[in-house]
Amino acid sequence: MPLEPLLPLFHRLDREHFDRALSPGGRSLVAVRWSDGRLTRTAGLYRRGRQGDGSELCEIVLSRPLLEPLPRQATLSTLCHEMIHAWVDRVLGEREVHGPRFRERMEAINRAQGEFEVSVRHRFPLPRQTARWIARCPRCGRSAPYRRRRRGLACRLCCERFHGGRWDASCELLFEPGPIDAEAMDSVVID
Ligand SMILES: [Zn+2]
Ligand SMILES: [Zn+2]
Repeated sequence: MPLEPLLPLFHRLDREHFDRALSPGGRSLVAVRWSDGRLTRTAGLYRRGRQGDGSELCEIVLSRPLLEPLPRQATLSTLCHEMIHAWVDRVLGEREVHGPRFRERMEAINRAQGEFEVSVRHRFPLPRQTARWIARCPRCGRSAPYRRRRRGLACRLCCERFHGGRWDASCELLFEPGPIDAEAMDSVVID
């Protein structure tokens, strides 16, 4: 789905599940934004600290490349996960990652609604960059993903079966641009 503005979602979740504790007086304690294209190993993160110029940084960043192709509930679930981190840190003032307070709030949110599910380690499919090509044997029809297009490769099984193990042009693999399908999927873990 196309990128959705995150601030309205943040305020909605804050109202429904955090008693507006993350935006006292209507002002958000945390900045929320989509990443650029580089955040690809994690679906989302929460961080707080000082920037180079000494100013405070407190933000939630969601991965645009990972979440954009997924259903909306993946965005809600990831945003809510990071909001629990922000709530534990900024509202409770506790230093824990996925500790008892995190889990208790997560379970309460999961019990309270059925639109999305927050988990501690959430796996999402990630299209693998490496399978650009699919090579297919014209003889037996078997296919396999390849990173690069290569010339002169022949199907080993068919060369063995029909040509005594010698390379034969009738078994030369045909390369086609690879679709992103379930076979070429990998997965990633939230923070
Ligand atoms: Zn073959
Ligand atoms: Zn986390």
